[in-house]
Amino acid sequence: RRFTVGLTGGIGSGKSVVARLFAERGVDIVDTDQIARSLTGPHGAAMPAVLAAFGADFADAHGALDRVKMRALAFSRPEARRTLEGILHPMIRDAVFAESLLGTGPYVIFDIPLLVESGTWRERVGRVLVVDCPEAVQVARVMARNALPEQQVHAIMAAQAPRQARLAAAHDVIDNGGELGELAPQVDRLHAIYLAMAEEAVR
Ligand code: ATP
Repeated sequence: RRFTVGLTGGIGSGKSVVARLFAERGVDIVDTDQIARSLTGPHGAAMPAVLAAFGADFADAHGALDRVKMRALAFSRPEARRTLEGILHPMIRDAVFAESLLGTGPYVIFDIPLLVESGTWRERVGRVLVVDCPEAVQVARVMARNALPEQQVHAIMAAQAPRQARLAAAHDVIDNGGELGELAPQVDRLHAIYLAMAEEAVR
């Protein structure tokens, strides 16, 4: 097992920017969202189990999950959502750990947007790192990046863990309420700590 940091934060908090800074320092990054998408993408590894549970008409023409249809079902029937998660979550975990073994960096960062929300990730990483910024800053950045109306950004944020819950789950916090240039020194400081922890872990 490699020393693992779970990187999380609300929508638009700056996880991608922070992950890139760690990657530039030679750290391996595993993108859990990308893994989750590929499992239910065209002929993804989860598709046979998903179609067995919900029916063949939940596949689109490319053999990928029909996300619009699935979202509608999960919205109207919470137990369908739990069934889907019961299929996907163990597969996502296995794929994430499998991918983490391929890297050669000193330690690995799992980029997990819903780490605090989905519970079991917390016990599966050595350290929880939260990228934090004031909610008003988060809203402004997401509106600018995605050209979304403010209401819609608020709706997405309301479905995520509140800022305080995320901070309460954090071992470490990166403050991204300021300029982009303020990130590198914080990343350098944490990187030194994580290198020492990774070394300690193999001893
Ligand atoms: P998501 O959860 O949506 O994937 P994220 O947490 O990965 O988002 P980023 O994509 O890294 O967030 O950042 C959100 C947007 O805000 C991007 O357009 C990014 O360039 C911008 N941004 C991030 N940090 C700063 C900053 N300190 N100053 C100005 N802009 C920033």
